[in-house]
Amino acid sequence: MINRAGFIAVLGRPNVGKSTLLSSILKEKISIISNKPQTTREKIKIIHLYKDCQMIFLDTPGIQKPRNKLGNYMEQATLSSLSEADLILWLVDESDYLGTWDKYISELLKKTNIPVMLVINKVDLVENLAKVKSIYADFDFINEICTVSAKNNTNIEFLLDRISSYMIEGPAFYPEDMITDRSERFIVGELIREKALHYLDEEIPHGIAVEIEKMKNREDKPICDIDAVIYCEKQSHKGIIIGKNGRKLKGIGKSARIEIQKFLDIQVNLTLWVKVNKNWREKAELVKRMGYKE
Ligand code: GDP
Ligand code: MG
Repeated sequence: MINRAGFIAVLGRPNVGKSTLLSSILKEKISIISNKPQTTREKIKIIHLYKDCQMIFLDTPGIQKPRNKLGNYMEQATLSSLSEADLILWLVDESDYLGTWDKYISELLKKTNIPVMLVINKVDLVENLAKVKSIYADFDFINEICTVSAKNNTNIEFLLDRISSYMIEGPAFYPEDMITDRSERFIVGELIREKALHYLDEEIPHGIAVEIEKMKNREDKPICDIDAVIYCEKQSHKGIIIGKNGRKLKGIGKSARIEIQKFLDIQVNLTLWVKVNKNWREKAELVKRMGYKE
């Protein structure tokens, strides 16, 4: 029975262990969806049920791979997720000085009135915890401090207990068995789209869409067969996507397969097709089938 629920935004500079912490909380591999701003058209939320509490971790840029531009990063973070959150986790590591990123984050956090929990990760590497803590002593926006090791699973239960105390009493926001509010199919499609965009760089001005036509686990072997179609607007774009001797499409397929395997935790046999569908954007039916809202 779920008695409390809430939204949690995880912030922190690259490499502090955000992905590791989330995997350790979820105890399963959730792949990183995107590091390009345009690839995640809809925010993905990761849901974790802990005791009587439904925790919804927001897909902040902190959860995604870091972007190159700090400004971009913070703008995204401010606009899209902080405002929805009931709690902000500010993840830091064992460093005993404040770097540029952390100063930036602290400036931002000063301006919100959402409760902030400072999570000091990599406690296994800390020699002098008091010294690490002292660099945050002046930030009165911090409600409390938790120390964890995401890698070694140290203190994660305690952290979850503390997080749940900030959640709101009331019913769940999502069905109890949901891990993300998007289907696996949708996420697999996004992973393919991300890899395609990465390979295509800026070559396809109006973008592409991906539709998963088939996604099925074999009955005799632990293999998932996936057939997906990459839609583009013009015949010339199709050529670009396929590349010379099909090389580009092969590259997209290979790197997408690796990500999808990590996400689904099963061997994947991925077949990609490229189809021209003029103005796919306007075709609401297709767009809907691909999992985007109208
Ligand atoms: P992110 O960029 O914030 O998502 O950071 P990652 O989760 O990718 O972690 C960055 C690096 O820190 C990886 O090499 C992790 O294995 C490592 N790491 C994460 N948590 C811990 C920890 O608790 N202790 C130690 N020693 N290393 C950690
Ligand atoms: Mg990460």
